[in-house]
Amino acid sequence: MDHPPWNLQYKNSPKLGKIGQRHHSQRVPKAATGGGSAYTLAVSVATQAAVQQRLSGLLTVVRQLVKSAMVEAYAPQARWITHDSDLTQTERRQIEWLAEQVMATGEVILIDNVQDLPQPQRAQQLASHGSAIAPLQFFAGFPVGMPPQTLGVVMIMTRAEFSLALDQQQAIATLATEMGSLLETVTLTAVSSESEQPATGTAAASSTTDHLPLTSPDYHNVMRLSMALQSCLTFEDLTNQLVTLLPVILPIHAFEVALNVEHHKSQRLCFWSDETVKIPHSDELVCQLPKQLNVHALKTEHRAANTRTPIAPQDINAPASPLPPYYYWRCYQLAVHNRSVGSLKLCLKPAAAHAFPVENSILDYVADQISVTLRRLVLLRKLQAENLQDPLTKLFNRRHMMSVLSKLLQRVSYGRYQVGLIMLDLDHFKQLNDTYGHDAGDHVLSMMGLFLKGHARPNDVVCRFGGEEFVLILPGVTWPILERRARQLCRSLHYLNVKVGETTVQITLSAGFAIAPLHAKTPATLIKAADTALYEAKCQGRDRAVGAPLPPASETGV
Ligand code: GH3
Ligand code: MG
Ligand code: MG
Repeated sequence: MDHPPWNLQYKNSPKLGKIGQRHHSQRVPKAATGGGSAYTLAVSVATQAAVQQRLSGLLTVVRQLVKSAMVEAYAPQARWITHDSDLTQTERRQIEWLAEQVMATGEVILIDNVQDLPQPQRAQQLASHGSAIAPLQFFAGFPVGMPPQTLGVVMIMTRAEFSLALDQQQAIATLATEMGSLLETVTLTAVSSESEQPATGTAAASSTTDHLPLTSPDYHNVMRLSMALQSCLTFEDLTNQLVTLLPVILPIHAFEVALNVEHHKSQRLCFWSDETVKIPHSDELVCQLPKQLNVHALKTEHRAANTRTPIAPQDINAPASPLPPYYYWRCYQLAVHNRSVGSLKLCLKPAAAHAFPVENSILDYVADQISVTLRRLVLLRKLQAENLQDPLTKLFNRRHMMSVLSKLLQRVSYGRYQVGLIMLDLDHFKQLNDTYGHDAGDHVLSMMGLFLKGHARPNDVVCRFGGEEFVLILPGVTWPILERRARQLCRSLHYLNVKVGETTVQITLSAGFAIAPLHAKTPATLIKAADTALYEAKCQGRDRAVGAPLPPASETGV
């Protein structure tokens, strides 16, 4: 019988245990029973604890992404099962069956009407004993691990109607991939422990690592890197971790990680070099490098195109002396689920270059780890941006405006700091909608987004307040400047000609402005003061800016 090579926390579930057709008794890695080195045992035990913690962390992120839904995870070989959903027996059996499908196919399964799902015979029999609680409506299963190695499933379920946006799906798929690489890390460590034992009963472990003849220090390094990268929440975190760890765990003179950005361009995310390799930090070189090194586009994942072609030192600008005879650059295209995210370039030390096979070396694992981390960070950044942004105008949304405003207003209690607010409203917008149609109205709104961004100063915060209303927050402004800016905005709009089909429409706006702390000290009252002034601007005939009234005693103070 196969044995799992590790012991993760196992929330005992005989039912889910059936899915993988395996039942394992609790087992301590062989090294723990004596014979293995203290080093491998320590690595193994420390890894298991850390991995468990990281896995829980990743699941928490999934939970945050799907908020109201129930989230569970299941990886039979790793004996990793989380069971915190309040499911009936019938529902649990339904998801057992669905999880089996995800495991078998390695594909994401999304079902938005679980009730209508044709059930396999076993599930049908079980369903007939179902309970009175409302059955599951929605199920999503994401394979844990990088295809074709499906190690488990992340399951999302609801009893109410639910759907997952494409971005959410991508984010969850990436998180599940990361869980897979974490679990693989544990496999590596456990195999490392066992490799020092007489070879008995390691079939389950070796099946996942046959292709990777890593040595014990390599396991340790892969584990260290994996742990460090899991904790990254920003690109800056990632850069710091890579610059700290890669030169320690790999025999390299230099490395560069580039991130794919729009229009098929890439941007250098981080770069490190020891004193022997001097490479200017210019974007041109990043772009030239693949050409010089004859790196071809890669078909599969990140597998390396080895660039054993030596580069004469003079090809690289301003090399320091003494120089190694050649630089061996190994370049990886980083990809997750066949989607390229960037590239990794490693300048191996000449003496070490031949020690790493082109494929199946620790370098592949390093590239894997960086790939999934990059993908996760890209998605995270996108989701964060969308959380703050209005999709039509690409301006900040009202929620973000309120949070920025309340932070800024905390500062006005101290000293002479002032915050200005201009409330803007398009004139007769309903008429424009009625005349040219709603799509034309939308087009005008998106043009307004560009117009307002174009007229904003670096510290300004421009938001869509709702409908055809906008808010401009001006931190650290004075009353005369605020007044001038509001009037300028109304005037400048006269020069904006918006094309709607063949027609050019002229739009105008009215503005009301107020300043904190003079008119108000809280977000709601400051908005109210500017809104009242806006109403006055409308009453006075529109296409103008009106300020909130200045109390005579304070007039000199602003
Ligand atoms: P006023 O000069 O007094 O502000 O007149 P108005 O017509 O601009 O103001 P009113 O409040 O009567 O109408 C606002 C219109 O804005 C009504 C609504 O259909 C339109 N609107 C709100 N949000 C959107 C949107 O996202 N897209 C489009 N196309 N129209 C919108
Ligand atoms: Mg309005
Ligand atoms: Mg209006």
